[in-house]
Amino acid sequence: MIYSPNHDVVIIGGGPAGLTAGIYTSRGRLKSLLIERGLVGGQIANAEWVENYPGFPEGINGFELGQLIHQQATKYGLETVNAGAAGIEFQKNRKVVKTTEGDFTAKAVIIAGGSKRQELGVPGEEEFTGKGVSYCATCDAAFFKEQPVAVVGGGDAAITEALHLAKFASKVTMIHRRRQLRASRILQETAFSEPKIEFMWDNTVNEIEGEDFVKRLRLNQVLTGEKSTLEVAGIFISIGFKPDTDYLKGVLPLDAAGHIITNDKMETEIPGVLAAGDIRHNSVRQAITAAGDGATAALYAEKFTENK
Ligand SMILES: Cc1cc2nc3c(=O)[nH]c(=O)nc-3n(C[C@H](O)[C@H](O)[C@H](O)COP(=O)(O)OP(=O)(O)OC[C@H]3O[C@@H](n4cnc5c(N)ncnc54)[C@H](O)[C@@H]3O)c2cc1C
Repeated sequence: MIYSPNHDVVIIGGGPAGLTAGIYTSRGRLKSLLIERGLVGGQIANAEWVENYPGFPEGINGFELGQLIHQQATKYGLETVNAGAAGIEFQKNRKVVKTTEGDFTAKAVIIAGGSKRQELGVPGEEEFTGKGVSYCATCDAAFFKEQPVAVVGGGDAAITEALHLAKFASKVTMIHRRRQLRASRILQETAFSEPKIEFMWDNTVNEIEGEDFVKRLRLNQVLTGEKSTLEVAGIFISIGFKPDTDYLKGVLPLDAAGHIITNDKMETEIPGVLAAGDIRHNSVRQAITAAGDGATAALYAEKFTENK
């Protein structure tokens, strides 16, 4: 059922990219609808403290940042619907966004659905999710006070998770399949100087074991093949992100990992369909760059709608 036929722009995803796009399109007097399946804010809402978003010299809580950007967009007339986008179809001069709450049409669509955390795919992961397996230290660290935990990964997000966990856990073991981290140097230095964080290089997790809750990890030394066991109460998995673009396969050109390919105006191959933020190919995955993408996408969406 098409029950909201007259939007100029539909934005999929309420993270920094989609919300910023919403500020620009609404302020540009385009009738704009934001489709968000969860809470507005996106991934940044999980960041306890954001120190690199301009305008907040003392830093800001990530959840609050998301709420403030949403408030700013709403002030200019952005409508928000709580729904999951599941497809895009094309009519003559309009795009139809199929969602769990019905269909929404617009002249232009900005896709800003960000990324989902990647799973390890090992035995025990699914069974113990919520029982010691977590993908969000900000959400779950407090459950592991004075207990040993592990973090799997080697990028910025993994180190951020480990540093946060170190405030609660008795010990944080970082398990990384290589000998070098991918994280930024400043984060690495902070982690190396945190006495509660230890590193297990060249190791992968083969299995997560426990009874009611996680008790131990079975590890594999990738260079020697040596097996070992690590006793932990929790494991935080931070090995990257997968864009939520399954519903766009065959609709838009995607890269091998599923990120949307755009030009530097955030335009995809299909006129009037743009993408912004972490969902884009080669995104640097930062709140501010996502916001910048959102602004660019909005301005070019506006130009597109003017010609329609
Ligand atoms: C723990 C943590 C700490 C971080 N700390 C920092 C930091 O200090 N500084 C920094 O700059 N960056 C930080 N980041 C990264 C930053 O949060 C992301 O780069 C940024 O949020 C990406 O914004 P986005 O709008 O592209 O996507 P997201 O923030 O991922 O938002 C996408 C939104 O789209 C929604 N969505 C997805 N698919 C659909 C669909 N089909 N239908 C409806 N809704 C959908 C999702 O629910 C989500 O709310 C951190 C990330 C994490 C996880």
